[in-house]
Amino acid sequence: MTKNTCIKCTVQQCKHHCKNENYCSLDCVTIGTHEYSPTQDQCTDCKSFVKAGRI
Ligand code: SF4
Repeated sequence: MTKNTCIKCTVQQCKHHCKNENYCSLDCVTIGTHEYSPTQDQCTDCKSFVKAGRI
């Protein structure tokens, strides 16, 4: 798994997370929102998230 130093991420439960380092391994990710009118960072989501099988 190669880290993408352009994408920092702390979601260790994601299949694409670089486990011992807080980076994503994908070349590109999609960010979106679950809110009608997002107002803060908690309103946004990584749409490329895939639940890891085991942590
Ligand atoms: S896909 Fe999204 S949630 Fe998963 S490691 Fe990459 S940036 Fe983080």
